Amino acid sequence: MSYRIGVLSVQGDFAEHVVAINDLDEADAAPVKTKKAIATCDALIIPGGESTTIGKLCERFGLDEAISKLHFAGKPIWGTCAGLILLAKDIVDSQQWRLGYMDIEIKRNAFGRQVDSFETDLAIKGIEGGQARAVLIRAPCVTKVEDNVEVLATFRDKIVMVRQDHLLGTTFHPELTEDRRVQQYFLDMVKATENRTGSD
Ligand code: GLN
Repeated sequence: MSYRIGVLSVQGDFAEHVVAINDLDEADAAPVKTKKAIATCDALIIPGGESTTIGKLCERFGLDEAISKLHFAGKPIWGTCAGLILLAKDIVDSQQWRLGYMDIEIKRNAFGRQVDSFETDLAIKGIEGGQARAVLIRAPCVTKVEDNVEVLATFRDKIVMVRQDHLLGTTFHPELTEDRRVQQYFLDMVKATENRTGSD
């Protein structure tokens, strides 16, 4: 059994996500940028890039409708960096377009200019085998979460990884390292969803 994981490919580092997901045995990743392609996915990744640009393109091409259908069907969606900004309900000091599915508040460029981009090691709840290397690039951080949101990782008191049911968010970029444990974590979410729907 192979799971079809779409990577939204209107802008940003979608190609790296496709390669990383395809390293997993049971996943079949593909870039998707049409409503039709999005509708065929078991799960979706919204990559890093520029959240205002990705948002504008989603709106212009009506992709939000197709993404919403996945969301309301409980199909897993993983936002990385800009992708997580688009999943957030609230964005500090911004009215920019968003999907807004996750009960979180997020702050763009939260690590300041001096440390625009950096790497660190993170302990991630639910991921075994030691800390994972994390690459942060003009990264946001999550500033508020509602009770239904689980915090999976923090860096210096800043929340950098969250989960709300079938929604996953990282403010860092697991697709830019060789470690595939976060991808596997997401694939396990996809498998759990399929098992649930399969047994209904
Ligand atoms: N700062 C970017 C934004 O606000 C996100 C950066 C990233 O995705 N690497 O969209």
